[in-house]
Amino acid sequence: MLSVEHPERYIGGEINSVIKNKEDISIRFAMCFPDVYEIGMSHLGIQILYEMFNQRSDVWCERVYSPWLDLDRIMRDKNIPLFTLESQDKVCDFDFLGITLQYEMCYTNVLQILELSGIPLLASERYEKKGFDGCSKDADDKVRLGEGYPIVIGGGPCAYNPEPVAAFFDMFYIGEGETEYDELLDLYASMKNDGATRREFLEKAAHIRGMYIPSFYEPRYNQDGTFAGSDIINPNAPSIVKKAVCLDMDNAPYPVKRVIPFIKVTQDRSVLEIQRGCIRGCRFCQAGMIYRPVREKSLETLKKHAIAMIEATGDDEISLSSLSTSDYTKIAELVKWLVETYKEKYINISLPSLRIDHVFLDMMEKIQESKKGSLTFAPEAGSQRMRDVINKGITTEDIMQGSAICFEAGYSKVKLYFMLGLPGERDEDVLAVAELANDVAMNYFDTVPKEERKGMRVMVTSSASFFVPKPFTPFQWSAMDAPESFLRKAYMVNEAMEHAMNHKSLKFQYHESGISELEGVFARGDRKISDVILSAYRKGCIYDAWTESFDRSKWDEAFDENGVDMKFYTQRERGIDEIFPWDFIDIGVTREFLKREYFAAKQGKVTPNCREKCSSCGASSFGGGVCFEKKKQKN
Ligand code: SF4
Repeated sequence: MLSVEHPERYIGGEINSVIKNKEDISIRFAMCFPDVYEIGMSHLGIQILYEMFNQRSDVWCERVYSPWLDLDRIMRDKNIPLFTLESQDKVCDFDFLGITLQYEMCYTNVLQILELSGIPLLASERYEKKGFDGCSKDADDKVRLGEGYPIVIGGGPCAYNPEPVAAFFDMFYIGEGETEYDELLDLYASMKNDGATRREFLEKAAHIRGMYIPSFYEPRYNQDGTFAGSDIINPNAPSIVKKAVCLDMDNAPYPVKRVIPFIKVTQDRSVLEIQRGCIRGCRFCQAGMIYRPVREKSLETLKKHAIAMIEATGDDEISLSSLSTSDYTKIAELVKWLVETYKEKYINISLPSLRIDHVFLDMMEKIQESKKGSLTFAPEAGSQRMRDVINKGITTEDIMQGSAICFEAGYSKVKLYFMLGLPGERDEDVLAVAELANDVAMNYFDTVPKEERKGMRVMVTSSASFFVPKPFTPFQWSAMDAPESFLRKAYMVNEAMEHAMNHKSLKFQYHESGISELEGVFARGDRKISDVILSAYRKGCIYDAWTESFDRSKWDEAFDENGVDMKFYTQRERGIDEIFPWDFIDIGVTREFLKREYFAAKQGKVTPNCREKCSSCGASSFGGGVCFEKKKQKN
């Protein structure tokens, strides 16, 4: 262990990690984030499930992350099976291996986890193939639960199109973990007790809301290669899988005792989730659609969580978590309470995802006093026309007003986030990115008198990512830009900034286009993509989300060898009635609504947010959240 970088990633024993007596446990659950420890440890969703599962006396949930490249090599050379952090027991001896899929570029890491665990990569081989070193042998269809390989279950946002990785999972949990896991675990416990087989369990599990068993469906394709739908090949499988939604956020389990790592991780603080979902309806944003409707937590619950978290962790920072913090209806009250309660204790409050206005600055003043760091705006597009196309809901005036307020308050560094390659983008929209950055810099000079600048230079850093159309968004029909086009646009912005009046105050950076293109394939891919992922993994692809280990040439070879054309998945605008591989999932938001929004985007028409006017997206079918706020107030 001492020969690897950060052995602390693998040893467990952190404060608040849960240790149980194996003898008292009937279900052992290995919960995996398929990336390095520092990233995985920062993920709230895993912490929620860890807390929730370990509250059950019959379950022991432990953590496992992707071994970094150095340990990966050693484990393969020495045939060491992957182990969990808490007990250091082999993952292949567990009842479940749960893998969260937070981004598409982790797919080869999923295969790494399976292979190092000694679990066959293909779900179809987990009934018959023999295990390796120490795993149960002779697993076949008659092997009882707990005697064969773990049930490999996937979840997280990428599970909303599970098809590209369907071959590697026994089942997927589609939706929010707080609601159906208890039923699934109860079912497993009783069937294990009764000596049921893996297949018998999957057949019963298929009846629980949100559960998708890919092996019970057989995809069909049209002659032109487009997806034609799936045949149900097991009578227990439903034709539609409805996502699981947690409506009672106040009584949902929450990880107030987060595990405290020995090393610095990406999010090393207490996180207070204030609401789930977003009222805004940006047309590029998958989270904004799949987490509808917005559900807030009450102030009382949040205060209770904050107090418990600080007590259990000793953290010196609380960060509010939400897709759009400003839209939480009691944000001012909450921040006031947090500041009053924790100021004396030197506990910082951080507020990401805020809209920048006077209310925001008032709050920043309260929490930051004299520290003036940089402020972040996400206009996403340079021109107003384009912001209307994506339904961003902010105007150039908002940005100018917001930045002026910040400059007046003493800030001189601004970060702007943009996307290039948005549907319907024209060259003038691209150039508008540089114009907007220049205008923001100019705004500084117009707002702050020379004598007050104290030799400070305003710095506006713009960064652009490559737009990737995602399932369950109005842009699910859209063609993705070609990488050459993205690069051309990035160069255009760069050049325009170099020639801008305030060029010395402008910085521009853009993301790797090769990774985004692959993300585009995986996001809207079908089952044919599984073979490509497997081939790429066999060639050594791993940690593809990391620029330093991403090897595009191996991926190109994998696509060629499997006769799969990347452009078919990325650069093709879909026919309006084309069947998508993810259409079998019901997220509440209807295809009709997404279609309306797709056409509204083409016409540059803005759709109001949920609190201005309900657009009947379909999410009210869940019976809670923002859709019922007004009715509740009237009663
Ligand atoms: S039904 Fe209306 S209020 Fe509810 S999420 Fe959809 S648009 Fe928003």
